[in-house]
Amino acid sequence: MGYWTDGKKNIGVFGLGRSGRAAAALLNLRGFSVTGLDSSNDVPDCPDCDRLVTGDDMTDCLNSLDGIVISPGIDPVSSLPAAARELGLPVIGEIELAFRNTDIPVLAITGSNGKTTTAEWLGYTLRKAGLNACVAGNTGYPFSTAVIENPYADFIVLEVSSYQLQTTKAFRPCAAAILNITPDHLKRHGDIKGYINAKARIFMNQHNSDLLVINRDDPGSVPLARRTAGLEWYFGIGESLEAGAYVQGNSIYFADSRSRKFVIDKRDISLPGLHNLSNALAVVCLAGKAGLSPEQMVEGLSSFPGVPHRIEWIGKYHGVSFVNDSKSTNPDSLNAALKSFSEPVILIAGGLAKEADYKQLKGLIADRVKALILIGDASAMLENCWSGSAPIFLEDVMENAINQALNLSQDGDIVLLSPGCASFDQYSNFEERGDHFRKIVGDLT
Ligand code: ADP
Repeated sequence: MGYWTDGKKNIGVFGLGRSGRAAAALLNLRGFSVTGLDSSNDVPDCPDCDRLVTGDDMTDCLNSLDGIVISPGIDPVSSLPAAARELGLPVIGEIELAFRNTDIPVLAITGSNGKTTTAEWLGYTLRKAGLNACVAGNTGYPFSTAVIENPYADFIVLEVSSYQLQTTKAFRPCAAAILNITPDHLKRHGDIKGYINAKARIFMNQHNSDLLVINRDDPGSVPLARRTAGLEWYFGIGESLEAGAYVQGNSIYFADSRSRKFVIDKRDISLPGLHNLSNALAVVCLAGKAGLSPEQMVEGLSSFPGVPHRIEWIGKYHGVSFVNDSKSTNPDSLNAALKSFSEPVILIAGGLAKEADYKQLKGLIADRVKALILIGDASAMLENCWSGSAPIFLEDVMENAINQALNLSQDGDIVLLSPGCASFDQYSNFEERGDHFRKIVGDLT
């Protein structure tokens, strides 16, 4: 029995959010004695913890522990994990713990943007083809919970973030996809190299029977090619590829070393935008690795309804459509959203800016945006970056932004909330921001 599957030990779980509590439940089920650790004294209930240690100084209790599982929110080089390592205690993350406690094959997806959409789309496509597949990880349904609740799944589709990958050791998905890499979370990873190295951990333990899928169109991902011991497939829009998925004319093809097969007309893909075409190609590759024939992929690719807060159509008011893309928290997702519409767009953007290049969007805004409404902390900075591209209106809160959008709109326009920024200046998370937008729009009708 492995160190993390044999229950006669005392394990600390540091960070009692959703993943931490899920790790505690899995450890408890396997017979470990679990100590919950959290720097906040005001932690949610942890029914699977045998004891709780909270507050500023938790290092004393390390002496009584045999290992630590840390939540993705905890920086692995912060003081408590560092002190544990100094004492010789093994420190792993929740993904690693769950991986060691299951035999179900894992199809893993990472990237700067599109992880949740692609993971949910793949899970949906596998299920439509009759497989028992569950989607877990960074989607909000922890991997540890999936291991407990889905012992008979054929596949676990796992969304993994760079934070989660930082603390893996033996983690080895049978197929891994990297959707795209653009600078994000640089504070935590130090620099872009640190961020890329974290992403690369998704394939670091692969064997030659495993598969790595890489986005041929993404300059950030291509340098990772040929670094896996596994098979390598690409996906891309435009050029024909030897192995993977690609688009020629309106046709999507799936190719492996033996053959190339037509899958679906790209106009039958259920989600809008070139970025979603790219996500669909990643789904084709991973579904192919899971054993689906092109015919078995069609239903999932053509009927997936999308995930809330990602270019989500909310409704129409006086001929104007409202779209909620609250999950757009960086310039690349805003870029993808703007390219998804041919109608005139009134854009509501802003929030808490990322360390990223917002100026690059100026040309696209000039081309696609009829009016720009800025809210939140980043307003002045964004105004500075985008002035001259479209008429700019500064508003304090969402209600006023939507009112302004209504004043400016005409029949056939789209009012798009795609902030390109984090939400934490005014909201607890992007879901709360998107729900607020949805509620205000709902109240109009
Ligand atoms: P993640 O889980 O990586 O944050 P999501 O699927 O939640 O990705 O989407 C986050 C944001 O990025 C949304 O605004 C969505 O419309 C946009 N998006 C989705 N796929 C892509 C992609 N391949 N490239 C760029 N943006 C994307």
